[in-house]
Amino acid sequence: MSSQRSVAIVGAGLGGLACARILQLRNIPVVVYEREASMSARQQGGSLDMHPDTGFAVLEMAQLADEFKKVARYEDQGIKLIGMDGTLHFDSEAGDHWDTEDDGNRPEVDRIQLRQIFLDALTPDTVKWGQGVSKVVEKDNKVTVHFIDSALEPAVHDFVVGADGAWSRVRPAISPAVPEYSGMIYIDNFIKDVQKKYPHLADFLKSGIALVLGDNKGLISQRNANDVVRVYSAFRKPTSWPEEVGLKALVDGGRWDEANQLLLKQYEGWNTPATGYFQVPPFSMDIRPLYALRHHSWDTNAHMTLVGDAHMVAPPNGVGANYAMLDGAELGVVIAENVSANEEEWLKAIKAYENKIQQRAWASQNEEFSFGLMISEGDSAARAAATLKQAFAAAAQK
Ligand SMILES: Cc1cc2nc3c(=O)[nH]c(=O)nc-3n(C[C@H](O)[C@H](O)[C@H](O)COP(=O)(O)OP(=O)(O)OC[C@H]3O[C@@H](n4cnc5c(N)ncnc54)[C@H](O)[C@@H]3O)c2cc1C
Repeated sequence: MSSQRSVAIVGAGLGGLACARILQLRNIPVVVYEREASMSARQQGGSLDMHPDTGFAVLEMAQLADEFKKVARYEDQGIKLIGMDGTLHFDSEAGDHWDTEDDGNRPEVDRIQLRQIFLDALTPDTVKWGQGVSKVVEKDNKVTVHFIDSALEPAVHDFVVGADGAWSRVRPAISPAVPEYSGMIYIDNFIKDVQKKYPHLADFLKSGIALVLGDNKGLISQRNANDVVRVYSAFRKPTSWPEEVGLKALVDGGRWDEANQLLLKQYEGWNTPATGYFQVPPFSMDIRPLYALRHHSWDTNAHMTLVGDAHMVAPPNGVGANYAMLDGAELGVVIAENVSANEEEWLKAIKAYENKIQQRAWASQNEEFSFGLMISEGDSAARAAATLKQAFAAAAQK
C-alpha cells in the first residue's frame, strides 16, 4: 500500500473519541460516525474513576490531562460497603485503604465532562452526529459503511473501527459473537440538588460510592458533579422481570414516582437510609439489563477492528471505560505508525493490537471481585468486603 489508508470510526463514546484524538495528534485524517443526534441527546450515565495506568494514562497521551484535572473530583474516591441490616463492612474513609500507589489516585469525573474534553479537542466536524451505522460491508479491499438513515449516501473507507458499544454494527462483519444476558438488571435514576434539598441523603453518601448489598439485590449510590446523586437499583432477575411486575410500563410512561414506590417494595426490611432515595423525585429513569461478551476473540481482518465494549462489554467492574479509552488510544498509535504499511505489515500490526486488547479484557473478566459477587445471595456485603480487603492486601504486597 503506497498511499495512506482512509480511516473511519463508528461511535463517539470514550473509546472512539480517544482513538480519533490520538490519530489527529499524529495528523492522520479521521471521521467519526455517531448515531446520537448530539452530545445532549440522552442521559450520559454516571461518574467514572480514571485509573493511573489506563484512563489517566490515555488522557496524558492525548495531551488532555490538564483539562481533565480542572473537572476531576479527587475528593470522590471513597467506597462504602453496607449490609441490608445497616452494618458498615467496608469504609475507605475510615481506614479501609488499598495502600498501593493507586490509593487516592483514581479521581472521578462525570462521563459527560470527559466526553466533552475529547470532543473539544477534536477538529470541528470530526464527529458526524446523527449518522448511525446500520451495517458495514467489505468488498474489494474496501469497507462500505451504510447508514440507518437511508437518505445518507454510504461511505467507503480502507479501515473501519467499531467503537459502537455492546450492540456494535461493525462486530457482525468480523465476529459471530453476541453479548449474553448477565442475569442482572440495573434501574438507573438520578436526583438533583441533593445537598441542598435532601441533606439526610447527602449525609448518608458523603462522597464517592455507597453499595448496600444483600439477597441478590443492591442499592448503589454514587456522587456526581453539581450536587447530583446517581442511584442504581440492582437486581439478579430475568430480563422479563420489569415487564412482569409492571415496572417497565411505569418507567416508559414517565410515571417515575410510582416506579419508585414499586422499587421501594423490593427493599422491604432493609435498614438503611439509602431507601430514602425512592422517596424523592427522580430526574430520569432507565432500565438496563446488563450484558457480557466474555473471552471474545476473532480472526484478524485487514479492514476492520474493534475497541471497548464492542469487543468486551461486561457488567460494571470499574474498568470498562478505562479499557475502552486505552484500546482506542493504542489503536490510534498502531494505525498512525502503520497507515501506509504493506498488507503484511499492516495485518501483523492489527493482529498484535487485537491480541493485546483481548488478553487485557480476558484478565479483567477473570477477576474475582465483580458485580456478580456483590449481587448474590444472603449477606453479600460481608463477602464482598472480605474479598475486597484481601484483594487490596495482595495488591499492597506487590
Ligand atoms: C451503569 C454503568 C456504570 C459503569 N461504571 C463504570 C466505571 O465506573 N468505570 C469504568 O471504567 N467503566 C464503567 N462502566 C463501563 C463503561 O461505561 C463502558 O465500558 C464504556 O462506556 C465503553 O466505552 P465505548 O466507547 O466502548 O462504548 P460506549 O460508551 O457504549 O460508546 C459507544 C458509542 O457508539 C454509539 N453508537 C452505538 N451504535 C452506533 C451505531 N450503530 N452507529 C453509530 N454510533 C453508534 C453510541 O451512541 C455511543 O456514543 C459502566 C457501565 C455501566 C452500564
